[in-house]
Amino acid sequence: MKIFELKNRFFEQLSGIYPKEELGSFFNLLVEAWLGLKRIDLALRRDEVVAEEKLLRFEKAITRLKEYEPVQHIIGQTDFFGLQFKVDKSVLIPRPETEELVNWILNEAGKFPKILDIGTGSGCIAVNLAKKLPRAEVAALDISRSALEIAKFNAENNKVEIEFIQADVLKMESLKQEFDIIVSNPPYVRSLEKQKMQPNVLKFEPEMALYVADENPLIFYSKITKLAKNSLKPGGKLYFEINQYLAPETQKLVQNHHFKTELKKDIFGNFRMLKGIKN
Ligand code: GLN
Repeated sequence: MKIFELKNRFFEQLSGIYPKEELGSFFNLLVEAWLGLKRIDLALRRDEVVAEEKLLRFEKAITRLKEYEPVQHIIGQTDFFGLQFKVDKSVLIPRPETEELVNWILNEAGKFPKILDIGTGSGCIAVNLAKKLPRAEVAALDISRSALEIAKFNAENNKVEIEFIQADVLKMESLKQEFDIIVSNPPYVRSLEKQKMQPNVLKFEPEMALYVADENPLIFYSKITKLAKNSLKPGGKLYFEINQYLAPETQKLVQNHHFKTELKKDIFGNFRMLKGIKN
């Protein structure tokens, strides 16, 4: 089978399930990962024959995509802000909105910041900060041992040093160290918002990293802000990714702990980030 025939088959098999643009991006990602071809090469080499064992991989990918398995799981890794991250069912797949949060921090961090990432998951925030702020001291915390395994792999793979801590932030009394920056993308999707989620998220991403109870959706923000109040240095900064539908409430909560705050929209125009500066 030639590359263009494979592409036709891929689209034929999956077009009832995914929009065309999404299929195009899945196919490009798979071709890059398994055939080593960039998008531009694809058009130029459309008549090349694809080896039998490679075809088999694509067939398996089609089957898995029909079950809504994320393409990032099928490939086993994903790009986040220019770095590669291993991902599996134990971590949230890094989202483009979170790149904007990292970028915000990068633009404002001093030269030698001491940083803590709470709920690190794949480590995408912590590893990016450590890589792009080579003189920073970065620690990252998560409740999940399997997530921390992935995050450690990602730190090593990207050649950065991070101190990893296994802990349940909701049970922590204090942080034991002082920081210039605390960042977190905690679970913030309310159960009532679950119906809006795609099947790939619902079936394959860790509930623990995503959902909070409808009655107490800001539980992580409240706890982390309290911890930050005691552990940030004066002038230290707290950065959150937030639930767009709860932006005013989240801002108020952080202000109530005497932080100066700033909300920021993501590329989709939703309030997605919040900064608190400690007085
Ligand atoms: N933005 C993510 C989503 O909608 C949620 C991330 C989170 O809960 N921290 O899938």
